Amino acid sequence: MFNVPQENRTATNVIDFRRELKDRESEIELLQDTFRLVASELNLEKVFDTVAKRAIHLVRAETLLIPILDNNNETYTYRAGAGKNTEEIVGEALPLDFGVCGWVWKNKKPWWRGMLDELDEKERNQWEKEAGTLILVPLQGRRHFLGGIAAINKQDGLEFTQRDLNMLSMFAGIVSIAIENALAVKELEETHQALITHQHRLERLNKQYSESNKKVEQLSLYDPLTGLPNRTLLRDRINRQLSLSTSENDVTSVLLIDINNFKSINDALGHDKGDQILIEFCKRIKKHLRLNETLGRLGSDEFILLLPYTSHKKTVNRTNKILKEMESPYIIDNKDFNVDASIGISSFPEHGEDRKTLLRHADIALNIAKERHSKYHIFNDQEDEADESQINLSVDLNNAFKEKQFELYYQPKIDIKSNTIMSAEALGRWTHPERGFISPVVFIEALEQYNLIDKYTYDAIECAAESINQWSKDGHNLKIAINISTQTLMDPDFVNQVRNRISDFSISRRLIFEITESLFLSDHDYIFDTLTRLRSMGIELSIDDFGTGYSSLSRLKRLPVNELKIDQSFIRDMIDNFDDQIIVKSIIDLAHNLGLSVVAEGVETQEILDHLNKLGCDIAQGYLIAKPMPAKEFEKFIKNYK
Ligand code: C2E
Ligand code: CA
Ligand code: CA
Repeated sequence: MFNVPQENRTATNVIDFRRELKDRESEIELLQDTFRLVASELNLEKVFDTVAKRAIHLVRAETLLIPILDNNNETYTYRAGAGKNTEEIVGEALPLDFGVCGWVWKNKKPWWRGMLDELDEKERNQWEKEAGTLILVPLQGRRHFLGGIAAINKQDGLEFTQRDLNMLSMFAGIVSIAIENALAVKELEETHQALITHQHRLERLNKQYSESNKKVEQLSLYDPLTGLPNRTLLRDRINRQLSLSTSENDVTSVLLIDINNFKSINDALGHDKGDQILIEFCKRIKKHLRLNETLGRLGSDEFILLLPYTSHKKTVNRTNKILKEMESPYIIDNKDFNVDASIGISSFPEHGEDRKTLLRHADIALNIAKERHSKYHIFNDQEDEADESQINLSVDLNNAFKEKQFELYYQPKIDIKSNTIMSAEALGRWTHPERGFISPVVFIEALEQYNLIDKYTYDAIECAAESINQWSKDGHNLKIAINISTQTLMDPDFVNQVRNRISDFSISRRLIFEITESLFLSDHDYIFDTLTRLRSMGIELSIDDFGTGYSSLSRLKRLPVNELKIDQSFIRDMIDNFDDQIIVKSIIDLAHNLGLSVVAEGVETQEILDHLNKLGCDIAQGYLIAKPMPAKEFEKFIKNYK
């Protein structure tokens, strides 16, 4: 050992002391700086990265690693590193009881070479090899053990000192709070994320649930064809609206809308096309709906429109708008069809304060609208109450047979060229003992509905036969045309029934049966057979309301009919409407080509009659010549006719 001079020794000491002081200062600076950095940093990865880079500097290690306990508390993962060979290690997970990390976690104190002295021989031998050049200080959070900071191999081949251990422990103490915070934030974020995912799932499930709920609701509350509220939902909507309308001024109107002759449209076009018309019909009404109004489907061709917060005037305006909307034809398979509707109206509170009364009154109003051929009718307490007896119509009809309330009126048909009466159309009349005159349109339909039409028709045929007889005795050899419902004509027993009643050829050859075009859509062979049998009895066949139906000309050609009656809707407007003139002209030409005679119905003016004459029409019928009249009156009429 050399002898060092005293003053020199002191000088060396001072230099060492200064260096140490400087080192201390920079260490404190580094600690403060690190603390500042990580304390405000909540991004976990950045915190780990900073800690690793600062720590390696602090203890001058070759490698620095940060093992952190995983959430499972069974493994730890190297979350960050600095220095040599860290790439392979960072990200790796190891079991907790493996290596020094396990020792630190178990003993809750730092590991360094100095610890070897405290171990028994066996342990010492094990750890000396494994961890002789390593410091691992624990990262202890406020609540639990987080992991550690491991410094491996001091730079320049030196060994870690007690001071390094102390520095790193202090450093760990400072950063563990920041790490714990960042870990907590991360956990919070993850929980939050999980919550969001969960929420999304919940929302999805909720949506699925409400969609399937909607479907169930749709099936039970909505009409599948039109998508409109059905009877059940309507009931609820009306009740709810009525409970809201409490004051006298809160008028709520119920419109009962019924498509006219929908059954024949359906029979004629088939159900698919009928459905198409229904859908289009609803669309047209829907165009006029406001937010708080409900359109619903009651049954096949019956709809309810609920108008809340309205007035009588507004209701009438809306009704007219809807009816106007119905005027344009429906185009099905490139053909135009006219579909019109009748509307019965009742209003809360005037015509009823509960749903049932309002609906019943709307129904009565609808029947009146149909009876009177007016497009709509507003229920009228005094006048219409009597119509409630409508419900007893089947009883009334049966009585009508017994009491002989039905009567046949006759309307003359004249040969246009010679202006002579050729025949008469028999038109049914019913004067109800209380309700008075009821339109044949109404009671014929009711007779059909109650299956009384056959009986009625056979009675009418017998009655007409008597008239033919009577008139021929008086020297008038006139024919009588009787309207035959399709329902009756299709009755398998029809021809026999007629034959049983009219065995005399002199009578049957003076009978004309008026049948409608809708018949031609039924089974062709069957109709052909029936009509042929009727013809063989001498009965003439006439096609009524021609032009409004759907008969194809080729079918017409093959059927044994004698006459076409052009529907009055074409005749009425033919002077002013050029299209109607063309239609009338072509029907006349067509009929003549097929060897049929042509009748024009609804001739009301001389001008029309003259025009028909020019077009070559054979026969005319209408108010111009005479209105339908009772048999007695008709007999007088023919006696006096020119
Ligand atoms: P329909 O067979 O087309 O009868 C012609 C209708 O036009 C009759 O109406 C007649 O009164 C009316 N009419 C005749 N000339 C004119 C005119 O110049 N102008 C106007 N505006 N109308 C005229 P009605 O008697 O009310 O009969 C209506 C419908 O009821 C008949 O139409 C027919 O389909 C049915 N019907 C009437 N009686 C019977 C019957 O005994 N059996 C069957 N099955 N149906 C009947
Ligand atoms: Ca007729
Ligand atoms: Ca007619």
